Amino acid sequence: MNGKTTDPTYNGGGLKRFAVDLLYPNRCPFCDGFIPYDRACCTECFDSVLWADELICPVCGKSTRSGCICPVPYRRCFTAFYYEGKGKYGIKSLKYRSHPDCAQLYGRVLRDRMDIAGATEGIDAAVPVPMAPKSLRERGYDQAELIARGIIKGSDIELLTHALRRLDPEREQHTLSAAERRQEAERQYSAGSDIDKVRGKVILLVDDVLTTGATLTACTNVLLKNGARQVICAAAATV
Ligand SMILES: [Zn+2]
Ligand SMILES: [Zn+2]
Repeated sequence: MNGKTTDPTYNGGGLKRFAVDLLYPNRCPFCDGFIPYDRACCTECFDSVLWADELICPVCGKSTRSGCICPVPYRRCFTAFYYEGKGKYGIKSLKYRSHPDCAQLYGRVLRDRMDIAGATEGIDAAVPVPMAPKSLRERGYDQAELIARGIIKGSDIELLTHALRRLDPEREQHTLSAAERRQEAERQYSAGSDIDKVRGKVILLVDDVLTTGATLTACTNVLLKNGARQVICAAAATV
């Protein structure tokens, strides 16, 4: 077996990556331990992350333990791992520890799952769930966009970063009830400057974490209302 193409922990080598590693030694997103410059995570973590399994509803993407939320307006949702333990740490690495590289790994795992299910071929364009403008200014990168780039790498799928737009939140998400979250999500997401490009297309909507499903539902509704033929979702982690 050629480890370089089949080992999901391989992030690609190259002189640039090697040189960056001299200044900023590469770390595993799941445990923060040092790892070789061409690796996406350490093998111990890869073996112990709670990868998404058969307890996840193949349609809504939520675990049956936390509660399926079907029916949903999107056709199905792919997820990579559970948002708990190392998976939770992995998402925090992506969002708060300035560790954008791990999005490639999450994207690769999602792509594998989509390929196995035969879902990749029919997709025309990928739309990342946009970040609130204030958060984007603070973080400097959009984690959903990086995951989307990881998924579509090497494919013909077009990336549409301005199909949707998002307003800054008026209230803290975690203080809201499920119904209030839905309302807040509907207020926050609307059509962006590239919305015309979704017409007639099968769209892959990409987010970092699937929690209540309010975000994916609100974004899917905007895409469908504006002529998208179908929406398939992918989220790195699921609750
Ligand atoms: Zn690790
Ligand atoms: Zn479901």
